[in-house]
Amino acid sequence: MIVTIDGPAGTGKSTVARMLAERLGFEFLNTGAMYRAVAYACLQRHLDLSNETSVGEVANSLEILFSRNRLLLGNDDVTDSIRGQEVTQSASIVAANPIVRMRLVEMQRLVGRETSLVTEGRDQGTTVFPDAECKFFLTASPQERARRRQRELEEKGDFISLEDLMEQQELRDRRDETRLCSPLKPAPNAMIIDTTEMTLSHVASYLEQLVQRACPA
Ligand code: C5P
Repeated sequence: MIVTIDGPAGTGKSTVARMLAERLGFEFLNTGAMYRAVAYACLQRHLDLSNETSVGEVANSLEILFSRNRLLLGNDDVTDSIRGQEVTQSASIVAANPIVRMRLVEMQRLVGRETSLVTEGRDQGTTVFPDAECKFFLTASPQERARRRQRELEEKGDFISLEDLMEQQELRDRRDETRLCSPLKPAPNAMIIDTTEMTLSHVASYLEQLVQRACPA
C-alpha cells in the first residue's frame, strides 16, 4: 500500500510522514532528501546548476541509499550536509531538470514496488504513484511555514529572520509550482489538509484515521 504526502516547503510533510509510517508500520521515503543529495553532489563538483546535461550525468551516476534514517551518497553520510541553505535553494533548481527527475522517479518507484510506503515530496501523488491508495496534500500559511523552518534551523544553531525565510520559501515554491516537469500541485484525488492551526503529531494521528477509514485493514 502506498500513502503519498505532497505539499510546499515547511508544511511539516517529513515529520508527519515519518510519524505516520511508524504508526502504520510502513517504510518512510523522504524524496526531498534525494533532490538535495543531487544538488549537494553538483555543488561539491562546482557545476553550473543550469547545465542540464552535466547535472543529469551526476544524477545518473550517483548511488543514493537510505540506511536507518541516514542518507548515504556512496560511502559518505550526507544527512546533515544536505540541510544547509545553499543546498536547500540548489535542490529546487536541479529538481526542474527532467534528467534528474527521471532518474529519481525510477528509484522511488523501485522502493514502492518492494514495500508498503509513506512517501513525501512534491509529485508523489501526481507523477510517481498516481495509483496510490491514499493521497494527501498538506498546506499551511506562509508565515507558519517560515516559522516552522526557523525553529528547525534554530535547533541546529542557525538563526535566520522570518522575512528572509519567507522570501526564500516563496522563491522555492514558485520554482516548484512553475517548472514544466511534474510541477507542485495536488493530485485530483488528494485530500487537502491545512495544518496551520495543528501540531504535527495531531496531523499524523488525523491522517492515520483517514488512511484507516479509506483502507480498512
Ligand atoms: O522537501 P524538501 O524541502 O527537502 O525538498 C527540497 C527540494 O526538492 C524542493 O524544493 C523541490 O524543489 C524538490 N523536490 C521535488 N520533488 C520531490 C521532492 C522534492 O521537486 N518529490
